Amino acid sequence: MGKFKKGHKGGFKVGLVPHNKMRKCVSSKESDSEQTRYVRLTREMTNLVKNVPYKEDKSTSNPDIKPATLLRPKSSDIRKAKPVKSVKEKQRIESETNRTINIKLNAVMWNAVFNEHSELSPHCKGFLEWDMSKEERWGLGNSECAICDTCSYQSKRYRLYEEVQTGKKGRKPAKMNIGAQAALAQTSISTTSFRKILFGTNSVAPSVKGLQKRANVVLPKIKEINESDMKRLRERLIHIKKLRGADNPSAVSLQGDAAYNNPLYSGVGRTPFQPATQVVYTVAENETQDKSILTVLQKINCASYTQ
Ligand SMILES: [Zn+2]
Repeated sequence: MGKFKKGHKGGFKVGLVPHNKMRKCVSSKESDSEQTRYVRLTREMTNLVKNVPYKEDKSTSNPDIKPATLLRPKSSDIRKAKPVKSVKEKQRIESETNRTINIKLNAVMWNAVFNEHSELSPHCKGFLEWDMSKEERWGLGNSECAICDTCSYQSKRYRLYEEVQTGKKGRKPAKMNIGAQAALAQTSISTTSFRKILFGTNSVAPSVKGLQKRANVVLPKIKEINESDMKRLRERLIHIKKLRGADNPSAVSLQGDAAYNNPLYSGVGRTPFQPATQVVYTVAENETQDKSILTVLQKINCASYTQ
């Protein structure tokens, strides 16, 4: 047995050179990679560092480089409080944006405003403009008030969009909003892209909720119109066949094709069929030169709807 030593057995070995010997400043050194690095990050950064979406291959990673040890994230990210804008500043910023307005209603508004202003304050040479704090938006349309920057003149609110006469109580829908939804139904873009385009033109865009609400009203109507129109075309075709003296006028020569949402290559190695979660199958007649579409079949979540 060796000589008994009191105290801990650990300690520096003879001849060991500490990694930080003679170091005056903290600059990276080769030995640093062997040291544990402690970092305290924000909650967002901690999540980003910790959660790896793919499985890491340990064999290819360099064993000399140690990952940093993450400390408990900072309790809250310090965010700069947004400076509160004054009414004047808000007015200036909003005045530099664009709006879609009805030209005639705009002319009516300004004629009334100029007359009213000159009557109330005949000697005022102030600048008349829209009061952006009193602006009322209705999807793409908006109602505006006019104010004078010199006197205390303030007009009533003028509606600058055309309304649809529904005959019902309450606020009437704007023609512009319904038209926009009808047009969107015929393009491949929807709410997000539509808003992006509007923002790109420095205009105000309707809210996502508002656009969806309007789409829920307009789209079923478009579907209804299309269905009744296709029914009319089917009946017309039978009538044409009857006029041609066909034996069985209901037997019609057809052609059909499907359009899928997924590209073909996305199913390579997984399915021999068309990979798709959505499909639109269109059937057109092959009896007249019009080649009218007679019916459209649409399926969503069609796991292997291809046969
Ligand atoms: Zn004035």
